[in-house]
Amino acid sequence: MYRFFLILALLIILYYLIRRAIRKTGQEGALEKPKDGGALGNHMVQDPVCRVFIPRDHAVKESIGGQTYFFCSRGCATAFEKQLSA
Ligand SMILES: [Zn+2]
Repeated sequence: MYRFFLILALLIILYYLIRRAIRKTGQEGALEKPKDGGALGNHMVQDPVCRVFIPRDHAVKESIGGQTYFFCSRGCATAFEKQLSA
């Protein structure tokens, strides 16, 4: 009886590993397909202050020293400006 459960557990682990491998290849295939406006519209940018990722469309855009930065909020933008000037 003990051996039966051991084999069953191994089969379940094997099943999950195979399913995960299939799902992984499926995701890679989906990434290769170009999405409608995905490259331009929904690009994620990182807030340099709080390290949060925000869609570029919703980010607070700020040009500082000839470089464009993206922030999650106006508060982070001013905090970043203070950091640079300090
Ligand atoms: Zn932020």
